[in-house]
Amino acid sequence: MKHKFQPDSYKILIVDDIPDNLRLLATTLTEQGYIVRCAKSGSIALMGARNDLPDLILLDINMPELNGYQVCEQLKMDRTTSSIPIIFLSAQDGIQDKVRAFTTGGVDFIGKPFQVEEVLARVRNQLALRAANTEIRILNEELELRVQERTSQLETANRILKQEILQRHQLEKRLRHEALHDSLTGLPNRNLFMRQVERCLDNVIDNPEEQFAILFIDLDRFKIINDSLGHLAGDELLIACATRLQECITEQNTLARLGGDEFTVLLEQVKDVRDAVIVAEKILQQFATSFDLGDRRLTITVSIGIVIGDCEYRQETDLLRNADTAMYRAKEQGKARYEIFTQQMYLDVMRRLELEHQLREAIANHELVLHYQPIFSLDSLELTGFEALVRWQHPEGGMISPGEFIPLAEETGLIISLGEWVMSEACRQLKTWQDRVPQAQPLLMSINVAGEQLHAPNFLSTVDRIIAETRINPQHLKFEITESMLIGNTNQVIMVLQQIKSRQIKLSIDDFGTGYSSLSYLPQFPIDILKIDRSFIDQMNFKQQNLEIIKTIITLAQVLDLQIIAEGIETEEQHQTLKSLGVKYAQGYLFAKPLTSEKAEMLIIEPINLSRRSYP
Ligand code: C2E
Ligand code: MG
Ligand code: MG
Repeated sequence: MKHKFQPDSYKILIVDDIPDNLRLLATTLTEQGYIVRCAKSGSIALMGARNDLPDLILLDINMPELNGYQVCEQLKMDRTTSSIPIIFLSAQDGIQDKVRAFTTGGVDFIGKPFQVEEVLARVRNQLALRAANTEIRILNEELELRVQERTSQLETANRILKQEILQRHQLEKRLRHEALHDSLTGLPNRNLFMRQVERCLDNVIDNPEEQFAILFIDLDRFKIINDSLGHLAGDELLIACATRLQECITEQNTLARLGGDEFTVLLEQVKDVRDAVIVAEKILQQFATSFDLGDRRLTITVSIGIVIGDCEYRQETDLLRNADTAMYRAKEQGKARYEIFTQQMYLDVMRRLELEHQLREAIANHELVLHYQPIFSLDSLELTGFEALVRWQHPEGGMISPGEFIPLAEETGLIISLGEWVMSEACRQLKTWQDRVPQAQPLLMSINVAGEQLHAPNFLSTVDRIIAETRINPQHLKFEITESMLIGNTNQVIMVLQQIKSRQIKLSIDDFGTGYSSLSYLPQFPIDILKIDRSFIDQMNFKQQNLEIIKTIITLAQVLDLQIIAEGIETEEQHQTLKSLGVKYAQGYLFAKPLTSEKAEMLIIEPINLSRRSYP
């Protein structure tokens, strides 16, 4: 940045004891536009310079009192004046003098007598130099300031960045932990567990002689505890279970929570399945003692599925699925036990899946038919009604019994649509018979109703719709429900049963005596009939115990004013015994097997002599 030289912005102090010199210099410099002050002696010069700092001093050396060198020295010693450039003027211009002038701090030297042009040129030079120096200094200072500012900004940014990096690291660590661990128990979660299994699988593929095991652990009836005691207690129990499970395994092995009440254990490097069995037994034993949760004492058991991981496997998900399958088998076998996965279990699962698929199609393709098993009065041997029993006419597999597909339909929820079809078809059939044959007028139709149906929110409206559509008199209907439906959720069940009763539909408890439930619950429910299960009738005449149970049920029915139907009567002996015990109604192969609708209709039209032969 170059400025135009402007003399009027510079103050020059001239120091000389000779007035003529002073005047000449002052006039010349003033003419040039400089602001000029004069001092006749060194002491005045010092004072003047301090009071009003000049930009340049022209200093005579030969002066009385203080000479030029002394003035210069004093000016240089004073911080305020030290930087003022000083040009010496002297008649003594030997080399010694010049050296002294420069060493004392002068910037230039002009010999006397001087040429005005020279003085002007040297003054101008010094001032320009000084201006340039000042500018450089200012620029330097500015630069310095900016560097400092920038440095401190950078330092702050750096500090913030470091902090952010640290926070990010911590967050990342937390997220990684959260992504791989279960928040309730702190155990590894499914993701982490599957990674570990994958690692084990890679290892056995490389080392085919090695094996590992997975235990799939599910708490039995956890849902009941969770629903009845609340989720907080449920969570507490899960944490306690996690602790107990942890005690059963060593540090090298992994315990994980897959979710809900499902836990898994990975046993690395087992010799054979016995190693896994030992751990499973230890776990079962651990759960034999109850849990103390606050003021509550709870008992819970577990079902365990075991699978051995070897080089036959390629996918870790297959291993987990098989362990899960084995666990389900343990549940089916009565819970609180372990089962080891076998290939047959896999085939069973596949068959069930296939069956489920086919059953869906069967409902859509009308492959289901109803058979009707007659129910007779034991006194008069008159036909009193039928029980509708569903059959599946499989296009390839022939007739499939409900024992095989009803449980499947219940598990998969297909029972809702299946049951609706059964009810509608049974009602339609009875109505057809009633319209066609006068003897059919008083007959009752028993329809099996599954728990899932009864609990479905639209059950009653479905019943009403079917009654309206088939124009059946509901008095001729009887619903057979099982004891297990009456347990749990009692108030809701009572409400639905009362609604059924208010429609004049009769209610019967099917397979009575097999539900393992306490008898005290019975009076709460609006029941009309108890159906004694076939298992008691069977062997009744050989096992005293069975006979006693039947007698007890009969007494109970009398007390509660309920009717009794005995089902599964196969022999004349059973028939006679039951008759002598006062049982009024019966159903069984001795009288008739479940019949097609045509055969059932023939039976209505032309009653058989039951004392002579069974039908058909
Ligand atoms: P359940 O309701 O107790 O039906 C009686 C079962 O005993 C029928 O078997 C019947 O054929 C059989 N039975 C009757 N008398 C005798 C006998 O003297 N000896 C022997 N050995 N068996 C006899 P089915 O038809 O195989 O039905 C089995 C179960 O399937 C039924 O037991 C019922 O729980 C269920 N079920 C059948 N149809 C339906 C339905 O439409 N809906 C629902 N939810 N369940 C059904
Ligand atoms: Mg039944
Ligand atoms: Mg039954």
